[in-house]
Amino acid sequence: MTSFVETAHSLVERFAERAAEWDSTRTYCWPNVADLTEAGLMGMTIPVEWGGKGASYLEAVQVVEEIARACTLSARIVVEANMGAISAIMAYGTDQQRAIAAPLVLAGDKPAICITEPEAGSAATEMKTTARRRGDRYILNGTKHWITGGGISKLHLVFARVLDENGAEEGISGFVVVADPKNGSLPPGFEIVRHERTMGLCGMPEAELRFTDLEVSEDMLLKPPSGLRRGFADLMKAYNSQRVGAGTIAMGVAAGALEHAKRYLKERYQFGRPIGEFQGLQWMLADMDSSVHASRLLLQEAAKSANPFPDMFLAARAKAFASESAIKVVSDALQIFGARGYGDAEPLERMYRDVRMFTIGGGTAQILKTQMAGHLLGIKTPQGRTGYAPSKSTEGG
Ligand SMILES: Cc1cc2nc3c(=O)[nH]c(=O)nc-3n(C[C@H](O)[C@H](O)[C@H](O)COP(=O)(O)OP(=O)(O)OC[C@H]3O[C@@H](n4cnc5c(N)ncnc54)[C@H](O)[C@@H]3O)c2cc1C
Repeated sequence: MTSFVETAHSLVERFAERAAEWDSTRTYCWPNVADLTEAGLMGMTIPVEWGGKGASYLEAVQVVEEIARACTLSARIVVEANMGAISAIMAYGTDQQRAIAAPLVLAGDKPAICITEPEAGSAATEMKTTARRRGDRYILNGTKHWITGGGISKLHLVFARVLDENGAEEGISGFVVVADPKNGSLPPGFEIVRHERTMGLCGMPEAELRFTDLEVSEDMLLKPPSGLRRGFADLMKAYNSQRVGAGTIAMGVAAGALEHAKRYLKERYQFGRPIGEFQGLQWMLADMDSSVHASRLLLQEAAKSANPFPDMFLAARAKAFASESAIKVVSDALQIFGARGYGDAEPLERMYRDVRMFTIGGGTAQILKTQMAGHLLGIKTPQGRTGYAPSKSTEGG
């Protein structure tokens, strides 16, 4: 039987050929989505009883690495179709919510997770978006920004402060909000305000969303096991899988850059010798290899810890390390290429722009290290001046 990673491998040559095109034209790679869907890699972690393959996070990260070597954009799609919003819905959702979410992802939809707001980035629990109960519905109002997939995603997990009929707060949770299955239009009150122009990952829309009296049925409220009051912490546990996935994309890009560097070190001659004979570059190569390998081990260890989600500390450590070290690896690979690395005839400049994101999105390296320190010292690490500390696993975005 063909393994998931073998299936992924069969796609990468095709993905690599057009990666520069999606970047330069800033378009979403729909043909790759069709290939990933047909190959069963969209929603591969969805349980078999819901139509998925029941793949483990370890299998998913192996696929993500393989694809990220060739096309960062496609790797992001695989992560978000297997880890993150979809994981939270499959773990904590009702059967009704699962029955809506699973078929969408299995048919090729990349879900959008909507947490970050203009005034609530790392301090995610300071979000202002509200969902106020009115009868059997909730009315959502607020703004989200930097939402990956805004404008192309059909399935959205929208986080909001949940208020009762009288406006009293019950906690923070997510709402499953979907586009019209017939015509793909967003529900009334759900507006895509604008798209960001990013330095890398250019084919992926990053959108600002506005909700104005958006009506959502009470059935679409995600009720995490700890209840609404402490539910955001549960949902952030689900997000640990997305963090491991994001770190793996960074590592996969670095692994791809390392391969390019090895090729060029043998190919390029200066001073009458292949540049790979210069010790300064040999040591650079050795360090690059060590970084990629260490990242892979940390990420796979975190993926294997899933029960049902990866451990918070292992996920934070793996993502912080992999994302920071990948930037250095790709930068060194670009350096090895000299001027050619800086031009777009080689993929290094694109990979460098792409990989820069991963210390920011999905929890910055600083926030992840703060979480790690709290765990290592066995203390809470309040960041607010008043000493108010959201519980250890609530920082994110
Ligand atoms: C390409 C991209 C895609 C994204 N996709 C999504 C998405 O799909 N959904 C979503 O909800 N969000 C998304 N985000 C948002 C992302 O999660 C946030 O950017 C992130 O949480 C950081 O928030 P911020 O950008 O507002 O930075 P800020 O929180 O304003 O931080 C600014 C700087 O201060 C540092 N900092 C902040 N607080 C502390 C502290 N206590 N200690 C030390 N340093 C600190 C940060 O590390 C950072 O360097 C995306 C971001 C990017 C770039």
